[in-house]
Amino acid sequence: MLPPDLPVPLALLIVSFAVTVIVALRYLLASGLFAFATARMRPGLYAGRGEQMVREVRWSLLSAAIYGTPAGIVLWGWQHHGWTLISTDFAALPWWYHPLSLPIYLFVQDTCFYWSHRWMHRPKWFRIAHAVHHASRPPTAWTAMSFHPVEAVTGAIVVPVLVFLVPINVTMLGLVLTIATVMGVTNHMGWEMFPRWLVHSPLGHWLITASHHERHHEEYLCNFGLYFRVWDRLCGTDKGLSRRIVAEAGHAPARAVS
Ligand SMILES: [Zn+2]
Ligand SMILES: [Zn+2]
Repeated sequence: MLPPDLPVPLALLIVSFAVTVIVALRYLLASGLFAFATARMRPGLYAGRGEQMVREVRWSLLSAAIYGTPAGIVLWGWQHHGWTLISTDFAALPWWYHPLSLPIYLFVQDTCFYWSHRWMHRPKWFRIAHAVHHASRPPTAWTAMSFHPVEAVTGAIVVPVLVFLVPINVTMLGLVLTIATVMGVTNHMGWEMFPRWLVHSPLGHWLITASHHERHHEEYLCNFGLYFRVWDRLCGTDKGLSRRIVAEAGHAPARAVS
């Protein structure tokens, strides 16, 4: 805890820096873990892409600072002034609400991502910002946070704003951030880790995994979602799964890819 007489700008700087370090370590740990898993499960998949991965890590560490700053400010306000609707006591919210808060947060995040992502594919914004993310051809486990700062801002503000509007227990918030981290990494790592019975099930047809997001990186103007295929399906931008990933996973013949 920071001393109460610390000047506010200095306190904000310290907390934002601390959160930036945590976000950066979380990224390095998660991407490192799945890059290691990739080396074991798909040896050679990242061969010859050393330079690309170094670039991805650089952009991602810059993104960590952009994610860490608003999160740090909100964390400071929560601790010192009781800002936000985050609770630490489970009894502060009805028991049935806790499992509900998770899909609410994920859906709002997914909605913001879908529409800002579509916006980022307009030629002007693609040139200014989103080209950085698509410079990863094809992406790797290190691509997860490889964004231009302009694009990183659009992702960095969603949860810090949401905690002022939608109540959530701190444990559920931790779960939201864990899902965001794991899916961000695994959706880019170039192979499918989920089993066929899930990816090709009725539920799987509404969820985004590597098979789905890879196709966005192959074709650009489709599959814009983050966690769910709801907006892509509603807006006619869902083009199904990456044939390469589905074939390599041994999941299904090409004609069954959807
Ligand atoms: Zn991507
Ligand atoms: Zn894109």
